[in-house]
Amino acid sequence: MAERIPVPAAREGTHCTAAQYEELYRRSIDDPDGFWAEEARRLDWFTAPTRIADWSYDPVAIRWFEDGVLNLCHNCVDRHLPERADDVAILWEGDEPGNVRTLTFRELHAEVVRMANALKQLGASKGDRITLYFPMIPEAAIAMLACARIGAIHSVVFGGFSPEALHGRIVDCASRFVITCDGGMRGGKLVPLKANVDAALAEGTPVEAVIVVCHLGNEIAFNPATDHWYHEMADLDGDCPCASMNAEDPLFILYTSGSTGKPKGVLHTTGGYAVWAATTFHYVFDYRPGELFWCTADVGWVTGHTYVVYGPLANGATTLMFEGVPNYPDSSRFWDMVERHKVDIFYTAPTAIRALMREGDGPVKKHDRSSIRLLGTVGEPINPEAWLWYWRVVGDERCPIVDTWWQTETAGIMITTLPGAHDMKPGSAGLPFFGVVPELVDADGQVLEGAASGNLCLARSWPGQMRTVYGDHERFAQTYFSAYRGKYFTGDGCRRDEDGYYWITGRVDDVLNVAGHRLGTAEVESALVSHPKVAEAAVVGYPHDIKGQGIYAYVTLVVDAEPDAALEQELRQHVRTEISPIATPDIIHFTPALPKTRSGKIMRRILRKIAENEFGSLGDTSTLADPSLVDALIEGRRNR
Ligand code: ATP
Ligand code: MG
Repeated sequence: MAERIPVPAAREGTHCTAAQYEELYRRSIDDPDGFWAEEARRLDWFTAPTRIADWSYDPVAIRWFEDGVLNLCHNCVDRHLPERADDVAILWEGDEPGNVRTLTFRELHAEVVRMANALKQLGASKGDRITLYFPMIPEAAIAMLACARIGAIHSVVFGGFSPEALHGRIVDCASRFVITCDGGMRGGKLVPLKANVDAALAEGTPVEAVIVVCHLGNEIAFNPATDHWYHEMADLDGDCPCASMNAEDPLFILYTSGSTGKPKGVLHTTGGYAVWAATTFHYVFDYRPGELFWCTADVGWVTGHTYVVYGPLANGATTLMFEGVPNYPDSSRFWDMVERHKVDIFYTAPTAIRALMREGDGPVKKHDRSSIRLLGTVGEPINPEAWLWYWRVVGDERCPIVDTWWQTETAGIMITTLPGAHDMKPGSAGLPFFGVVPELVDADGQVLEGAASGNLCLARSWPGQMRTVYGDHERFAQTYFSAYRGKYFTGDGCRRDEDGYYWITGRVDDVLNVAGHRLGTAEVESALVSHPKVAEAAVVGYPHDIKGQGIYAYVTLVVDAEPDAALEQELRQHVRTEISPIATPDIIHFTPALPKTRSGKIMRRILRKIAENEFGSLGDTSTLADPSLVDALIEGRRNR
């Protein structure tokens, strides 16, 4: 089954060849302190760390570089001024094609200083939590960097979230300040950000001041007691030195996407996060000066934090920020932008790849993609079918693909192939990054060796590991360290093959146990998606009298396919032959769409409840992209 695609010829001077990977990985395991002390030198430290790793998983206390002093804004902006002040730091394109703005490092520096001064003027200082609620515009990055500059802790809330979701996150971390803008555009539609902030504040929050950036000029309500038009604030141009931050001072809080339950306020600290972001960006994307890097994630997610803002800028890279959506004005938008801007590295999510694949090859092929040299994916397991489409159609079988497994909790990439080092296997994330020690553990906590399937744990700490759940260290310990003593439990199921490649099989909660056989939801989904008429599939278990658990498959079809009984039969047969009769879906439920989080991940816990006929206890649905879909799915379930 597993196809193996040889690593395309490495570029001259690639940051890591296969032999170098072996050597560096070995060193990162045998001498972690030496290895990470050296990698930490990618950054400018005001005081270099002498104490490197200091952690325990029982009790849970994690510290890295703890006597080091640095500032991440300095590392992303100021330190580049002597060498590349006039290089582009941020290349922005708005919702309308061709609406472009560039910021050089010099301009970015001036903007960040202004925003930092604005925060200080309003009384914000080190340790304050500051909520950012933005569309994908440069001011989102500027505000993040301004917080880092003065030592305030940012909490970015995705600009597509409702006032309720925003309210909950402001209250959870007791923010006294919000930075937002009047409105944003997504796919030709106005998102009323300021009005959403007003609605969130109306429910009662500790917020004292709101900085409002003027982006669209749409009409907004203005409350003189709290609101400050950013462009009307005076005296912002004076110097604003970067605060000296201890490596373990908090950098940001970010709420997880809520695929599996109530979002957790993940806390990352300065030094370890900075080292992880900078190091993974350097090796995984093999970045060279002058290249244009495009990560399509929103800054409201960790991928946007680490690979739109901090990772690229810490490496002096040019990062592309895009306000819009992949299908506006039509589904060739990504490739149109790749052609116009000559994007070198393109990093997106399986959900986007599957949606674009559904539209066929035409929209891709009509644009020149010869500038691309590396493709990446993150967010969910990518079905081999979608991987191969990305490889063949988008990358012309020329560009390596990095399938990067990681989590909000890990700060950055943890399992991936490296572009100049490793063969690729469609559907497998690949091998551990430096310092990462994956372990597969069975239900009794036994560590499995060699080729095996189990629950994915990480045996050792890494610099980018989250330090706590904000305000709830007990929840941190409970969630990640109680299932398997002395290990970090990721919540994901995983298979390791005979070559040591890792295959994420889905959330552990979603692993199926059908008549005593363990099946990963990802495997059944990939089999379904490999049928030409299937665009996307989500598989969950439900109680079954005979088998214990039955397989319930929600399926969306490609544009012209008919959801009829014949196709249902055909799909069952298809899965039988692709995997085995054990994996045959018991119920196939055609639906025009799947419920997803705002970050585009399929919300299987809701699908599971619906499949179980538990309509009353769907749990937290606040992060759902389209809540109305749930009623239609329940209706469809009732008819089965
Ligand atoms: P919550 O923790 O609130 O349920 P979430 O897990 O979706 O939300 P994220 O931190 O955004 O929040 O997502 C991390 C998860 O995404 C991983 O645990 C894994 O399940 C999945 N994932 C990310 N990248 C990959 C990948 N390359 N392959 C397979 N799965 C991936
Ligand atoms: Mg998670």
